Amino acid sequence: MLTSLRSVPVSSKANDLVSTASFGIKWIHGSVPRSGKRDPPLQLWHFDSSTMILRESKDISFEAPFIYLFLGRKKAMLIDTGATQNRRKFPLRDYVEKELEKWLNSNPYRDYSVIVAHTHSHGDHVAGDLQFEGKPGTVVVGKQVGQVLSFFGISGASGNVGQVDLGGRIIEVTHVPGHHPASVAFYDSQTGFLVTGDTVYPGRLYARDYPAFVDSLNRLVDFAKSRKVSYVLGAHVEMTDTPRKEYPIGARYQPNEHRLEMSMNDLVNVRNAATSLVNRPGPHMFDDFAIYHGSCYRALLSGLFRGMATNLVTRFR
Ligand SMILES: [Zn+2]
Repeated sequence: MLTSLRSVPVSSKANDLVSTASFGIKWIHGSVPRSGKRDPPLQLWHFDSSTMILRESKDISFEAPFIYLFLGRKKAMLIDTGATQNRRKFPLRDYVEKELEKWLNSNPYRDYSVIVAHTHSHGDHVAGDLQFEGKPGTVVVGKQVGQVLSFFGISGASGNVGQVDLGGRIIEVTHVPGHHPASVAFYDSQTGFLVTGDTVYPGRLYARDYPAFVDSLNRLVDFAKSRKVSYVLGAHVEMTDTPRKEYPIGARYQPNEHRLEMSMNDLVNVRNAATSLVNRPGPHMFDDFAIYHGSCYRALLSGLFRGMATNLVTRFR
């Protein structure tokens, strides 16, 4: 079932977008267990006729990652493929094909192709790749850092920025290691979206390689400041709409979530927070996000137990 909610009327020029305006969308956020209610496997929302944001249901995976689909005149780019491989359970390809069909009906192009890219290669962002691999007109970008950098033409000489032309729609890609060695951020000049994966989002920012994380955030802020960024868009929501209050790890039901979309200001806040913690490993909570500096095993373990307890309590209430 395709859950299409209302679109925000926007101009296609990023310059005209207002970064403080909320999308005004209520994302699927899991169901109370035993309520008899079940969310659709995916929610698809049209930002405009060529830009879609999808979210995997929390009923399928507690990660409930967000996925982005940008349509150009000659190519489409799907950013991330979710946490679930099984197409019957998680029919990502069906949702994408339906959108492509609609798009090509009004924008016919003979050799239309699809690039399946990733914000990084953790399992909750690449599991659906199998639904696309080997399909005609489809290129699935490799998961290794070298494959990612070479696909997008990112090198030291390019200032760590590469790009792909989707046909009248340039997507710039910049390398932002720290959460994962192959992490990249995508900038779409048409909407002004900066898609940041797990590097920046309203949730727990796990910085395994802290020096790389801080360096990446500094470069990302510079990158974003020299472009028109409308929204900074990550891959999860783990914060509530109350400042400094997160959902426990593994939460399956998040009724009062923080909004997905963040602003340029939020990005600068994340960078500033990260630089202030260079000598302070461990978990640190801020209004709209948390930073986990280093491995943080103890905090993660207790968070995991809290999450399991919450899920159990919700289930048997
Ligand atoms: Zn993730």
